[in-house]
Amino acid sequence: MITRLLYRCPLCGAEPWLKAGRCRACGASLRLARGGLEAVIGGRRAGIDHWYAAVRRLERLPAGGLHGGPVEVAVETRCGLFRGAGGLGAVRYGRRRLGRARLHLDDQGLALRGESLDCILPLDAMAAVTIESHTVIVNTRDQGVFFLDFPDGGGKRWEDALAAALRARHRPRTIDEFCPRIRFAAPGDTAGGRPGVRAARCRPVGPAPAPAAFETLRGAVQIGRASGRERV
Ligand SMILES: [Zn+2]
Repeated sequence: MITRLLYRCPLCGAEPWLKAGRCRACGASLRLARGGLEAVIGGRRAGIDHWYAAVRRLERLPAGGLHGGPVEVAVETRCGLFRGAGGLGAVRYGRRRLGRARLHLDDQGLALRGESLDCILPLDAMAAVTIESHTVIVNTRDQGVFFLDFPDGGGKRWEDALAAALRARHRPRTIDEFCPRIRFAAPGDTAGGRPGVRAARCRPVGPAPAPAAFETLRGAVQIGRASGRERV
C-alpha cells in the first residue's frame, strides 16, 4: 500500500490524504507507474524515492500532535547469559509484552496508552530510534528498550515522526544519526537525556497481559554482536 511510505500528501502535507486516488485536501491525483517504482502526483511523474523525500521534508507534526495505533508494546528484558563454545558468552535478551496501546506524539514526548499500560517516553530521554521490519524500536536512557509493533505496517511514518520531533527538540544541535545512538554533529556529543529529566514514566494499569512467547538473542558480551543488526 503506497500510503505506508507516502503517508502524507507530498504536495500539501495533508494526512491522511488519499481517497479514491486523490488528495482529499488539495485534490491532486495519484497514479502509480512503472510497476510502482514511479508515481504521477498532481500531473508530475517522479520516482517513489523522490516523493518520499518530499514527504520527509514536511517535518512538522499535525496540529495537536500525531495520533495512531493500536500497536503492540513490549520491552526488552535480560534473560540470562548464553554460553557458547570456547567459553564465549552472550547476553540473552527477550521481550516482555506490555499490551496494546494507542500512540500520541507531541513536541515533548511519545505517550503509550492502553488497557494494560500508561507510559510517556519523553523526547529528552530517548537515546536511539530505529525500525526493523514493522517494529519501531526506542531506546530510553534508564527504562531500556521499547518495541512498538505495527500490525498494519505503518511503522515507517512513526520512525520518521520521532526523528522529526527529536530534530526539533534538540535544535540548534544537528543530529547526524539516530541508531545505534542519537549522535550530534559535534564529535562525542550523544543524546541520552538532559539532566533532571526522568526517562519513561510507566505504570501498569489493569490486569497484566500474558507474557510474550518469543525471545531474541541480541547484544553480546565478549564476542560482539550476535548478528549483524545494530544493537540499540
Ligand atoms: Zn494534497
